[in-house]
Amino acid sequence: MDYSAILHEIRERLAPVIGQGRVASYIPELATVSPQHFGMAVVCIDGTVHSIGDADVPFSIQSISKLFTLVMALQCEGDALWQRIGREPSGNPFNSLVQLEHEHGKPRNPFINAGALVLSDILCTRYAVPETAVVEFLRKLAGHENIHYDRRVAKSERDTAHRNAAMAYFMKSFGNLKNPVGQVLDAYCRHCAIEMSCIDLARAVTFLANHGVLPRSGERLLTASAAKRLNALMLTCGTYDAAGDFAFRVGLPAKSGVGGGILALVPGECGVCVWSPGLEPSGNSLAGSLALETFTTLTGRSIF
Ligand code: GLU
Repeated sequence: MDYSAILHEIRERLAPVIGQGRVASYIPELATVSPQHFGMAVVCIDGTVHSIGDADVPFSIQSISKLFTLVMALQCEGDALWQRIGREPSGNPFNSLVQLEHEHGKPRNPFINAGALVLSDILCTRYAVPETAVVEFLRKLAGHENIHYDRRVAKSERDTAHRNAAMAYFMKSFGNLKNPVGQVLDAYCRHCAIEMSCIDLARAVTFLANHGVLPRSGERLLTASAAKRLNALMLTCGTYDAAGDFAFRVGLPAKSGVGGGILALVPGECGVCVWSPGLEPSGNSLAGSLALETFTTLTGRSIF
């Protein structure tokens, strides 16, 4: 498959919408990013890289971090994790408090904020400095050392994390958070503030396209069954409250973030990442969702 030609075609088709949508502004530091960025990368299991535009520019991965903290929490806890976090789409915004009360402090899934706070809590129990462990894990997956979290973005989010704090205290009242709330919020905001490029992220997800095995080294990071389940969760819960529409239009497992990144994968073949900071109302990148829709249309590569 000539992915380079396909990426060129996608950028040409999308030129009129790049820059549209609203850049996330509820975390003040994110509002400073230009909406004109557009990058996209395909990294195949055999290591081949295809990219276009700003594919090598690092951006704030935000909720895409939830995918990787889930992998790490699963490595620590195994299936016991599912006693603390559900596996159903939420049908509510990513930062909603409503369902937590009905479900006695058990978040609907690991990809909404409440779920990711529990993941961060697990990593706080397991690691002395959880954000360092997450950054190191991502360095290994991306194959280079130059990955960090942006301290200004982390502080900006932490200073305004009132709703996440409310969720964390609420879950703690049900016993579903073991560490001090402040410590969990610090770790969570640092995970969200990690910066990576489309190429880094597309490479980092190839092990999930490869049944849980890191292609470069052959190291198994998850069982094939856990990798399959994770892909299923991405499909059903990975793109906010638009996951149904995203599956309908794109047909690939994916996780998005309010930094404008969407990370997807084609099982058995490649990781695909797109970045364009303008968001549609559900929080997914506007041009990014259209780019992935065009990708599956042009390539015929979806899981359906
Ligand atoms: N750090 C963001 C928050 O908790 C993540 C949002 C996102 O990318 O969905 O609000």
